[in-house]
Amino acid sequence: MENDTPDNLEDLFAHNRAWSSRMERDRPGFFTSLVKQQTPKYMWIGCSDSRVPANQITGLEPGEVFVHRNVANIVVHSDLNALSAIQFAVERLKVQHIMVVGHYGCGGVQAALENMRIGLADNWIRHIQDVRDRHRVMLNALPEALRANALCELNVTEQVINVAVSTVMEDAWSRGQAVAIHGWAFGVHDGLLQDLGMTLDGSKPMEALYEAAVERIRHKWSKRAEEQKAQQQAGSGEAQPAA
Ligand SMILES: [Zn+2]
Repeated sequence: MENDTPDNLEDLFAHNRAWSSRMERDRPGFFTSLVKQQTPKYMWIGCSDSRVPANQITGLEPGEVFVHRNVANIVVHSDLNALSAIQFAVERLKVQHIMVVGHYGCGGVQAALENMRIGLADNWIRHIQDVRDRHRVMLNALPEALRANALCELNVTEQVINVAVSTVMEDAWSRGQAVAIHGWAFGVHDGLLQDLGMTLDGSKPMEALYEAAVERIRHKWSKRAEEQKAQQQAGSGEAQPAA
């Protein structure tokens, strides 16, 4: 694969033709089998950020993951776009796993923290501010530099719940359909995914899982804050990784 970034649209078409013929050469019949059906096991609900491409991060091929992305991976109950995608994934494609994936360094999360006014998106980001306000005590206790990381994880936890309480998931679980929702966070700085331990499959009460996930986030980032403080006091001055 070429490493140079296409800088005009003709390059995109050239890369596309090269990719298509490479796939067909390496995997004869790949596209004809895709035409027949898509049977992904996974649904990815992630941020629109260009640095968080679902397929590449997880090594999944066309046909293997059903993707919905928006600014800051938010799921709200009036969003027909997200809900329709979730319904299609669960009822028609019968995915087994839905992952809500946030990422560190998310512009939407940062804007929410800083009360930044952008425009129309302010009303969207307000949903993250609701999460921020719900956990204000925890966030305020952290040094400013760590708050965005913690809020990124809290937002994922919250959105996992929002998926879980949707009519689509309530119906699926009451039918006994095996589908689990997971909360993950992606590190743009190291390319690694982390499981936040927020997995719901309809079998356990979600309140307790939510509380435990929030407590893990609090513990993780307050510990990180202490480590940073100790490091500063020791005068090492070495920066901690972001997550
Ligand atoms: Zn983002």
